[in-house]
Amino acid sequence: MAATIIDGKAEAARVRALVATDAAAFEAAHGRKVGLAVVLVGSDPASEVYVGSKVRLTREAGMESFEHRLPADTAEADLLALVAQLNADPAVDGILVQLPLPAPLDAGPVIAAIDPEKDVDGLHPENAGRLMAGLPGLVPCTPLGAMHLISRTLGDVTGLNAVVLGRSNLVGKPVAQLLLGANATVTMAHSRTRELPALCRTADILVAAVGRPNLVRGDWIKPGATVIDVGINRLDPREGEAKGRLVGDVCFDEALAVAAALTPVPGGVGPMTIAFLLRNTVTAATRRQAAAK
Ligand code: NAD
Repeated sequence: MAATIIDGKAEAARVRALVATDAAAFEAAHGRKVGLAVVLVGSDPASEVYVGSKVRLTREAGMESFEHRLPADTAEADLLALVAQLNADPAVDGILVQLPLPAPLDAGPVIAAIDPEKDVDGLHPENAGRLMAGLPGLVPCTPLGAMHLISRTLGDVTGLNAVVLGRSNLVGKPVAQLLLGANATVTMAHSRTRELPALCRTADILVAAVGRPNLVRGDWIKPGATVIDVGINRLDPREGEAKGRLVGDVCFDEALAVAAALTPVPGGVGPMTIAFLLRNTVTAATRRQAAAK
């Protein structure tokens, strides 16, 4: 039987509607809107598209969007000065610096400069440590979205075997921590892992966050598994593909015949990211407001 295709687009719309209700309640209680500041340095076309969607969906959720566009040759000191200004601005609850930054800017010092309580991307080392320690903090948005889809699909994951492909700070590591926090038995795999197909076949939950088109084949998947494909890869038109077609890290057609449930690309994990960015912003606003009392 073909796998159930997990509809991330519909689920993201549902999450955004819940966030909008919470944002309206915050405004009614505190007399101001929840505010998200987005900083874009340079004009990378993909980043332009992401920032445009973030601004639009922030407003649609009834929140204030503050957009800051800086030229590609911005000095690190000027970017850090803007971050300091946003840290101090009481109307700003969340700060997102769109990555990647254009060379030679290094993301590390910029992320470290963001107030951890406004770090809605969850990338500040303090928030990474809080996730590791099981303390409340802000968690990266894509992993939150992936975990949400897993919970909606499976309910309780206690004792299930989860394999996470990829160990980035942005996706792989936080996804693994969230699964561990939900009592799954978690294995992290990466580019140096041996016998990857056999390892993947042990997974009741397989999360692929690698960035290699169609890496995971049908025979890597345990029959009945839940497969979450985080990868977003644009195929090369020179290889006879339709211009710029997006595929995931999982060979979708093969996985469909083996898995019980599977996220598509596009329309799976992708839309969840902004939904959880908005969720994190309302969470940050609520916590700051409570701390101010
Ligand atoms: P990354 O390049 O930082 O990390 C990739 C990881 O994959 C590394 O840990 C590496 O060890 C591992 N890896 C590389 N080759 C491998 C192989 N052959 N076998 C096993 N593991 C291998 O990437 P990232 O930022 O974690 O992103 C991963 C993918 O997720 C990308 O396709 C990216 O576009 C996508 N992504 C999607 C969203 C979203 O849906 N909104 C957000 C972030 C990233």
